[in-house]
Amino acid sequence: MTQEYKVLIGGKWREATSGERMEVINPANGRPFASVPRCGPEDVDRAVEAALEAQPAWAGRPMSERSKVLLKLSQLIRDHLEDLAKLETMEQGSPIRKTMGMDIPSCAEHFEYFAGIARGMTGETLPVGPWAASMTVHEPLGVVGLITPWNFPALMVVWKMAAAIVTGNTCVVKPPSVAPLTSLRIGELAMEAGIPSGVVNVITGPGSTAGESIVRHRGIAKIGFTGDSATGKRIMSLASETVKPVGLELGGKNPFIVLADADIESAVEGAVWGAFFNSGQVCAAASRFYIHESLYEEFARKFVARAGALRMGDPMNMETVIGPLAYKEHRDKVESYIAEAKRSGAKLLLGGERPDTPQTRGGYFVAPTVFGDCTNDMTFMQDEMFGPVVGLARFQTIDEAVALANDTKYGLSGSVWTKDVRAGLVIAGRMKAGTVWVNEHLCISCETPWGGCKESGWGKDASTMALEEYTLTKHIYVDLIGQPDRPWYGILK
Ligand code: NAD
Repeated sequence: MTQEYKVLIGGKWREATSGERMEVINPANGRPFASVPRCGPEDVDRAVEAALEAQPAWAGRPMSERSKVLLKLSQLIRDHLEDLAKLETMEQGSPIRKTMGMDIPSCAEHFEYFAGIARGMTGETLPVGPWAASMTVHEPLGVVGLITPWNFPALMVVWKMAAAIVTGNTCVVKPPSVAPLTSLRIGELAMEAGIPSGVVNVITGPGSTAGESIVRHRGIAKIGFTGDSATGKRIMSLASETVKPVGLELGGKNPFIVLADADIESAVEGAVWGAFFNSGQVCAAASRFYIHESLYEEFARKFVARAGALRMGDPMNMETVIGPLAYKEHRDKVESYIAEAKRSGAKLLLGGERPDTPQTRGGYFVAPTVFGDCTNDMTFMQDEMFGPVVGLARFQTIDEAVALANDTKYGLSGSVWTKDVRAGLVIAGRMKAGTVWVNEHLCISCETPWGGCKESGWGKDASTMALEEYTLTKHIYVDLIGQPDRPWYGILK
């Protein structure tokens, strides 16, 4: 028996106008366990109307009140930690160890963080002369459309929603079709926290219909999008019809550079974390490894030994650290890249076969896979695979390592591993990416801005910068002379 969810529009739970539904499949066993409405343009219209109606009153509340409601929502997320974590594990396949230990607590933390920092938002006063007062104020944009991916289904919604609503916007959220349930549940908890009807609307449906209707809608002031670079390009072009700003958090193909003086044990641990956390389904996952030739063999041996020991299986088991990939077509895509890597002459060091154990049979599992002797001209070293598959390559000089790292259409993140922090900083400055870690990979928090360059997109999630993404900086100028004349009016006299 599958559970039938409804969508949240204007504080009410509704079916799609068409009455159609979409199945949600548990990737650990390939079985449908829930269904959601397949919304289309009419449902988007309704959600935008509800959000437009709710926006002035929500924006009219003092920041302190909006902030308190967010804190309440944060507490409700903590209270429902286990349910939310289980739901996310079932819809997306991430191990419960991760959804319960990290993803859902992080959602609560982001609401807390934005509830706090928004109260410190200030404008500026500007020195335009003694005859006027001039200031900037930050105003909400209106209704924002938030379109999110399946790799961290709950957190990706919260990143955007928290910053958007605390600043007085209302939102229409479209979660991924593969994993829409945690977003609906967060919408429900938002209502329970006292967020007024229409402030948070959550509709489910295909990107090509529901998603595009949101992007095109004249009632929507901005799109906050996280997803694939190709979808980001399509959204950019559609948003141009209404000259709508878009925040784009897109794909990555992230380099991991190990210098000759690196602490090899730390680098190996960081590599396993950076490459295989969430089965590599992370925009910032380390997927291209450039290792100084003097360390290459030792690094490869130790990395393969650690990666080969990762426990794969039922994601509901607290001991599991590697779950299935999120859906069948995605697993098939990752496997096609493995086949391509084998054909390209890369040396298979680990994995490369579909696992076949009682725990993995029936699910969309791909074992951690490592290729050695890779070069940047191999397709799988250029395309974002979004799976637990990585390539190792050698370098001789720092210039060569930087050139290899930057040889990509993406610019999301990267890391450099060295005991020489000065060298690390210099290399960080030369890497074209939104985030560079030195002796760390995949360390992301509420306080630090997140966003890329090149085909990884633009704009920032998290940090104080996210508040600016969802506000209009308005300049207000007030005359203080109080006379009908001004020094510059003479130009027209
Ligand atoms: P996707 O682009 O296929 O889908 C993302 C969302 O966009 C979904 O809700 C989808 O339904 C919707 N969508 C699809 N086509 C659309 C269209 N034409 N118009 C409007 N909406 C549309 O991405 P995905 O497969 O869900 O997620 C994986 C991608 O997300 C990877 O490329 C990954 O790197 C990226 N990602 C980036 C970040 C970041 O912060 N940069 C974070 C997480 C994931």
